Amino acid sequence: MQCPRCLNKDKEYFYKGSRGWYCRRCISFGRIMLEEDREPVSLTPISEGSEEYTLQYPLTKAQAEIAVQCANLIDGSDVLLHCVCGAGKTELVVLSIAKMLKEKKKVCFAIPRRQVVLELKERLTQYFPKAKVIAVCGGHTSETDGDLIICTTHQLYRYYRAFDLLILDEPDAFPYRGSEVLHGIAETACRGHRIFLTATPDDTLLEEVREGTMIHLTLNRRPHGKPLPVPRIISAPVWVLFVVLCGWIRRHASHPRMIFVPTIASARFLHRLLSFRLPCYICTGKSTDRDEVIRKFRAEEAGIIIATTVLERGVTIPGADICVFLADHGVFDRASLIQMTGRAGRSFDHPEGDVLFLCSQKSEAPLRCAEEIREANA
Ligand SMILES: [Zn+2]
Repeated sequence: MQCPRCLNKDKEYFYKGSRGWYCRRCISFGRIMLEEDREPVSLTPISEGSEEYTLQYPLTKAQAEIAVQCANLIDGSDVLLHCVCGAGKTELVVLSIAKMLKEKKKVCFAIPRRQVVLELKERLTQYFPKAKVIAVCGGHTSETDGDLIICTTHQLYRYYRAFDLLILDEPDAFPYRGSEVLHGIAETACRGHRIFLTATPDDTLLEEVREGTMIHLTLNRRPHGKPLPVPRIISAPVWVLFVVLCGWIRRHASHPRMIFVPTIASARFLHRLLSFRLPCYICTGKSTDRDEVIRKFRAEEAGIIIATTVLERGVTIPGADICVFLADHGVFDRASLIQMTGRAGRSFDHPEGDVLFLCSQKSEAPLRCAEEIREANA
């Protein structure tokens, strides 16, 4: 027995109701009967000319090469597009999308986090002016069909065997990461091949590459061509770190500064300490005004924001410098440290960026992060 939606085979999750057996592992998406013959969801045909696209900036030579390779590979294989933060991963798949649309095939762009869905919809609407680009996520579910569908990984349950190309952006991000249900649903939504887009692929993806079921393309250069900032690591007692942090904030006064902390409590504590002297923003998983805070921070030329890992991905603040306070804390793994480091040095005006890890103890993850960035730069 296997669930036709989440591909669960574990008997523990199968229950027998009045209408027959059903799966409880994915019950939050509604009851699905195991014997049910599921018809592929049929979506409207692709509109004429939807494949025409314009990019905001032309691709660099390195980007263009990867984009072409990827578009050539997707007919025959899944692709892991492994590119450093800020390498322009969305732009790298535009050619692949255009190719599918030209062949009147359905493409979906799925992302774990809702906020990114809405931003990406705006961007892809600009790139593909003639295509009907729609966003499907919490609060936006009245329309679920278009030429190009951008949705959260949760919403993929609506599209059984509907897509010829499924692009999974940041598959190593919460809540997709480690969720067997969402992995199963993503698999059943796709009838063609998949592109996985990430700067920090997890072991599951790399395992598929090793097994030869997926092709691995890498891009280690940002469009401006400068190396990625390598984090400097300072280990000291916490009170010393605080003094170092204050010095760092002063020295980088001409740039926006993002200070990452491990917990909401530490964010509040640091915010209280700092906001006596310096106006600063705070953004945590508990902030209800997150969009507004980011907008205000972005509008300031050289603001300060204290954030938990909620801002580790997806947010681009041009010219930002980064400090991770207590980078040795267990909530920060190698991938999240790489993502936070990746917020720095993204603009052409300030491609160097500065990244500082402040640690209270010796820890593996900050060292591995720095090592991996050095290797990417080599
Ligand atoms: Zn299921």
